[in-house]
Amino acid sequence: MTGVKELLQEKDHVFLDFDGPVCDVFARLPASEVADRLKRLIEPEVIASADPFDVLRYAASCGPNAAHVVERQLNRFEGEAVALISPAPGIAEVLREWRAQGFTVTIVSNNSVDAIRSFLGLHELAVHIRGISARTTSDPALLKPGPALLDAAVKALATSPGQCVMVGDSAADILAARSAGVASIALAKTPSKRKALAALDPDALVTDLADLRLAP
Ligand SMILES: [Mg+2]
Repeated sequence: MTGVKELLQEKDHVFLDFDGPVCDVFARLPASEVADRLKRLIEPEVIASADPFDVLRYAASCGPNAAHVVERQLNRFEGEAVALISPAPGIAEVLREWRAQGFTVTIVSNNSVDAIRSFLGLHELAVHIRGISARTTSDPALLKPGPALLDAAVKALATSPGQCVMVGDSAADILAARSAGVASIALAKTPSKRKALAALDPDALVTDLADLRLAP
């Protein structure tokens, strides 16, 4: 694995995951509660997972109508969830520094574009963000770990994958980056995440947002 600063300095564009690096989306309205509410929309409720995105994937396997209903509600719950939380400590400073050093930052996230836009606006972070490539449809195939959101971000910037780096805190971020031909930096704040993400061989791994700062 390369040093994170060297890796960043080789790139022009940062793709930043939302849930984790920017904020903890389901800190106040728990993901398990959201998953339970979504499961009530599906007949029969056979899915055990407490992850709202697993419920969406399951709904999509039932058919496009079920997926649409679940995705719309998930969008609403994400909006509720992000209204209750604050930005991750230190993220504003990192974003400000990246922008000052000439990087563009695009949020690349499986969360709904509406929830992300409202959160960034509310906390005055939008000024640092060039674009948002996030969920706009109920098709889970278009979400990470697939490359579609990263491909769209590359296209929107009229650049090439080699000029971009994805920063994220889950396996899906590292896998999506690899499929899109984009370098990856894993953000692993706990020992268990560190172990899980290191096993996926990201280009770099950091344990804290502050490690992503370039200033001495
Ligand atoms: Mg995340």
